[in-house]
Amino acid sequence: MMPLPKSAFKGLAKVTGPLLFWMAVGWAAYPVAMQHMSEAMEEAADIAEIRLFSLTMAVSCVCIGIALTLYGFVGQQPSEDEMKAPEPRLCPYCGRAMEPQEQLCTGCGKTMLKL
Ligand SMILES: [Zn+2]
Repeated sequence: MMPLPKSAFKGLAKVTGPLLFWMAVGWAAYPVAMQHMSEAMEEAADIAEIRLFSLTMAVSCVCIGIALTLYGFVGQQPSEDEMKAPEPRLCPYCGRAMEPQEQLCTGCGKTMLKL
């Protein structure tokens, strides 16, 4: 299995980071909505508990959102070596991986034809 390149994680972080801020806004608005709902339904809801839970969720979302956004936007850009993975050249005789400039396989000693 091929490991995912770092740029894929960065792309994901760029999408998920801002999304988490919206989730935080949603959690912040949640107790207000619940209060309105419980008033409309004339049913006592434990607003204090909902508020505490929502606050915890909102703060968590903001923290993770900040971390992901920083990772996605500020962190190191993927290096050029990572962007273009070198094609491994294998010796057709013994299967040893060779440097592109190598003309003679050090594994089996056979001379390579220029491809
Ligand atoms: Zn060889």
